[in-house]
Amino acid sequence: MGSYIPYSRQNINQQDINAVVEVLKSDWLTQGGVVPQFEEKVAQYCGAANSVAVNSATSALHIACLALGLGPGDWLWTSPNTFVASANCGLYCGAQIDFVDIDHQTLNMSVAVLEEKLIKAKQDGCLPKIVIPVHFAGQSCDMQSIGRLAQRYGFKIIEDASHAIGGRYGDDAIGNCRYSDITVFSFHPVKAISTGEGGMALTNNVQLAKSMRLLRCHGITRNADDMVSKPDGPWSYQQIALGFNYRMTDIQAALGLSQMQRLDEFITRRHAIAKRYDLLLSGLPVAIPWRHSESYSAQHLYVIRLDLTKISRTQREVFEGLRAAEIGVNLHYIPVYHQPYYADLNYKLECCQEAEQYYSEAISLPLYPALTEAEQDYVVTALTMLTNS
Ligand SMILES: *Cc1c(COP(=O)(O)O)cnc(C)c1O
Repeated sequence: MGSYIPYSRQNINQQDINAVVEVLKSDWLTQGGVVPQFEEKVAQYCGAANSVAVNSATSALHIACLALGLGPGDWLWTSPNTFVASANCGLYCGAQIDFVDIDHQTLNMSVAVLEEKLIKAKQDGCLPKIVIPVHFAGQSCDMQSIGRLAQRYGFKIIEDASHAIGGRYGDDAIGNCRYSDITVFSFHPVKAISTGEGGMALTNNVQLAKSMRLLRCHGITRNADDMVSKPDGPWSYQQIALGFNYRMTDIQAALGLSQMQRLDEFITRRHAIAKRYDLLLSGLPVAIPWRHSESYSAQHLYVIRLDLTKISRTQREVFEGLRAAEIGVNLHYIPVYHQPYYADLNYKLECCQEAEQYYSEAISLPLYPALTEAEQDYVVTALTMLTNS
């Protein structure tokens, strides 16, 4: 095999390029009309009432936490099996972070563990203000159950759906926020559709949308009704909150808008590749990913778990062997609390047993729409040799 096979990558066609070039030739590279069009397109696709495009999912998570009032003294809980951004957003707000262990089968936050932890937190008087379930690998969390717990224990929900645009929870598109306050998508090049860098926050709550729009742009309003004092004149704008420059450019939005046309096609293709992996790996000492029969996964990742009792090599040796064969395998994820920054926080984080067990066996195989059958066969052959005793 000639070239390096990444674990994921963007898929750009001529139509995408044309859409970007059109914006480059227009009057507005940013703060023009394409960002609202992209927002509208994604909101419509998901069936959410409002959407706020920003420069990354990390920014979206940050302003989502702020809009929900997270601050010092508050707790934010998330899954340990995620990218650091799902937890960092809480630290940005001065809140404390804790992790809810994952379910062995779904690899998502375990509802049973969440409930146990809530019961205990209630007794101790430290219930979370926000819980961020992460739809790992594109498979939705059990949102109905988490939503029920949110009502009982009074916390807010932000869905980190960075892996999950194009997926469904039952009959609902992920992002419709039926059981959550806000849902966040990422458009980084490894995700289902890309804007280079970019993210979006969706919500059915107009007030939250308004608040996130304000925070996206310095906390500045140009709307006289929102100003806190009489405007100086027609040139007037007022900063009424401490916001940021988290804006998405129209160049990025044009790419996103164009990519949306192929989102369903991308997910279908990801499923076809995943099913082919399922078949090709069936004789190997590895567990293939579990898929919910009633919720359509966005199939962002294809994660296998090594049966190390049947393999003579270690996880690291298999991983290194694949990398040496120019296969860009990855490990999603190192439990977030392993990160030195988290280990150094001034409170003790509990170890999550399932997340640890999973971390010691998992490897993400290449999966993206343009992956060829020949490349896939090459990956499987290399894996077969490395897992042979
Ligand atoms: C990619 C990712 C993010 C961060 O997305 P950016 O757009 O790069 O900021 C957050 N959470 C999860 C689960 C992700 O996979």
